[in-house]
Amino acid sequence: MCIRDSVSTCTKTLECNSINYMTSTKKYETVIGLEVHAQLLTESKMFCSCPTDYLDARPNSVVCPVCLGLPGAMPSINKKAVEFVVMTGIALNSEIAGTTQFHRKNYPYPDLMKGYQISQYDIPIASNGWLDIDVEGNLKRIGITRIHLEEDVAKLSHRQDIKGQDYSLVDVNRSGVPLMETVSEPDIRSPEEARQYLVHLRAILQYLGVSTGNMEDGSFRCDANISIRPEGSEEFFTRVEIKNMNSLRAVYRALEYETIRQIEVVENGERVIQETRGWSEERGITVSQRTKENAHDYRYFPEPDLPPIAIDLSWQETVKAAVPELPTAKRNRFMSQYGLLEYDANILTNSRLTAQFYEEAVGQDDGESGQVTLKAKAIANWMLGDFFGLLNGAGIGMYDSKLTPKLLREFTDMVEVGTIRGPAAKTVLEQMFETGNKPSQIANEQGLPQIEDDGLLESAVEKVIDDNPQAVQDYLGGKETAIRFLLGQVMKETRGRANPGSVTELLINHLQGMEG
Ligand code: ADP
Ligand code: MG
Ligand code: ZN
Repeated sequence: MCIRDSVSTCTKTLECNSINYMTSTKKYETVIGLEVHAQLLTESKMFCSCPTDYLDARPNSVVCPVCLGLPGAMPSINKKAVEFVVMTGIALNSEIAGTTQFHRKNYPYPDLMKGYQISQYDIPIASNGWLDIDVEGNLKRIGITRIHLEEDVAKLSHRQDIKGQDYSLVDVNRSGVPLMETVSEPDIRSPEEARQYLVHLRAILQYLGVSTGNMEDGSFRCDANISIRPEGSEEFFTRVEIKNMNSLRAVYRALEYETIRQIEVVENGERVIQETRGWSEERGITVSQRTKENAHDYRYFPEPDLPPIAIDLSWQETVKAAVPELPTAKRNRFMSQYGLLEYDANILTNSRLTAQFYEEAVGQDDGESGQVTLKAKAIANWMLGDFFGLLNGAGIGMYDSKLTPKLLREFTDMVEVGTIRGPAAKTVLEQMFETGNKPSQIANEQGLPQIEDDGLLESAVEKVIDDNPQAVQDYLGGKETAIRFLLGQVMKETRGRANPGSVTELLINHLQGMEG
């Protein structure tokens, strides 16, 4: 039943959901906890020496007896993967276990080669941490229950043959890729908070270099647990787990949809049942998949083929020393050091590569700090505006164009001293983006430097006045905005190389001479 219209066919579209979400959530509070699985950027798999970059590989070509789960094959632990989880734990303010071990999680499924997954159970590598997120300008702390290490499973593709018979294909390449699971406390209270949590977590993993954080290719996956409760209640009610969300937008939409669905169930006098539901992107709804297994169904027991792991303090200290400056700290520093607005600093520090590009362009070598700030602001503006536009248009990353940080800096310097200006500057930037040539070279070749020659400007102004009698009439008749049209014509005539200020002055002089 739709809460807004009292019809049973509603809640299918995002617009409708948003309206329902706002009106119906007043009496209820949404409680969300997220489980995030991130593939780790190690060179080899978790328990064998197969490489992890399987995305472009032929199906079932990146495998060995260990990740195929052949009887008798012995696993060994990838130390780098453990280190990445320790590093993430430290970055998420967690306690690191001094000793830990792997467990077998038993369940039969065609994507699980051994019939069990090697995972962690009672002692995760990291626990009791937190992550601060920004939600519409407010700081919110989300608890991190645990971060543990496990292995990814094979990939199934479900198909249909020409007779309409269902069949499935299995690709084992993904099997055994190190997978880090980060489980949050049920501290998240809205779809937007969930989105922000994922954005912040992903940025941290990218900064640490432990994961690509790519949701589209499945390197960064999120399961969402969600329940509702009466506003003001401290109790936790029955939760539903949602799977199959392949983008941030999908997570947001699924949580919004599920909140309303659960409210409707309760308002109809029924009870929410604990189950796993799948998000259907096409239909914009969640669909029941199965009722939830309990932990004991997995018959966890310690992995007998692997030794326990000791993570002693000196190893922890070494890892800690390698943790780079994280997004929030970097953003704050950008604001204080370069005088950037919070909004701009946020965008520039969202990705580590963007922040790096920016700082390379700003450089450190300017004597006076006031100078740095001015230049830094100018560079930020060109990056956030034209340069990002060009990158988006070309669909490429920060360092994939020919415009290097050094070139951007040279360009900004030239703009600053007025060698190039206005539309001409944009043209130079575009050319740099395409060719990687120096801005001075481009400007010279194209004859783009500002026209300093008064005679040239003078004749351009005269030509425009002759060619546009109507606009001249308008101006003389008191319509002062006509001057803007004439200015535009002169800029066109000079291909953007004139200084708009001088042109306006010249125009007014000429026009005043015509009055009376
Ligand atoms: P499971 O293996 O059963 O999925 P996990 O411990 O891996 O359990 O994950 C449980 C997740 O569900 C955590 O993120 C936790 O915060 C969340 N959660 C627990 N209770 C609730 C609840 N009542 N409502 C919403 N989320 C919940
Ligand atoms: Mg789970
Ligand atoms: Zn292998």
